[in-house]
Amino acid sequence: MWAAHVAGPDETTHSEGDRDVVQPVSRSARRGLHRRRVPKPGGRAIAASVAVGAFLSAAATAPNTGSQDSVALSAASIDRPPAGVLPPSPVVASPPQVLQLPDLDVGRLAQRMTEQLAEGGVRAAERAARDAEARRPLSVVPVSGTLTSSSGPRWGTTHYGLDIANTIGTPIVSVTDGEVIEAGPAQGFGLWVRIRQDDGTIGVYGHIDQALVTAGQRVKAGELIATVGNRGQSTGPHLHYEVWQPDGAKSDPTAWLSARGVDIS
Ligand SMILES: [Zn+2]
Repeated sequence: MWAAHVAGPDETTHSEGDRDVVQPVSRSARRGLHRRRVPKPGGRAIAASVAVGAFLSAAATAPNTGSQDSVALSAASIDRPPAGVLPPSPVVASPPQVLQLPDLDVGRLAQRMTEQLAEGGVRAAERAARDAEARRPLSVVPVSGTLTSSSGPRWGTTHYGLDIANTIGTPIVSVTDGEVIEAGPAQGFGLWVRIRQDDGTIGVYGHIDQALVTAGQRVKAGELIATVGNRGQSTGPHLHYEVWQPDGAKSDPTAWLSARGVDIS
């Protein structure tokens, strides 16, 4: 506060040019004299300005007594420059904080989603297949057409099969699940396919035009195995179907099919 000091009543004032005749005065008075002996226009205003600056400096360094003041000061120093003052160029003291998303591997996520969808599709297909398998009949009619002869006495002998007439090339399917034990030429039947059926009996498909399976092949009920033909001892295109017991005995195919829920009439 020295700069705001003004001459007291004990200090002698002198005009310019009295330096050599100055009387003894106190040190403070001498400083005041010295200052007065080098007057400058506006000198008092400069001193006052310095004094104000010192006051503001003291205020700025004084301990804050309230948290609100602290917040106000720091906020004003960053967000709200004085009116008419351009905000300072931003100085990045530390790298800007960037919100980090969790470390997600998008590619892997997409792969997992695809896999799950595929698994869902596979499961749905498996379920549909199981359902279809559960509904699949154990026995089916071997061919469409007209029943022209059943098993029984005929022409002085015994006819052991079913004759179902249809045009050459009509699809013939396996009556049951089974395994093909033979597909090829046969005496009297021209060409045949024999299948070991699911109950151990043997299904015989004679007079066929084409065999579409081979020995050793596994087939399911309803699966295409041959086409209707007119080979061998045949008077017209038809399928001759027989059922043999494992010991070779021939069963009545009509009764055998009927016992399995397939009616031929
Ligand atoms: Zn026949």
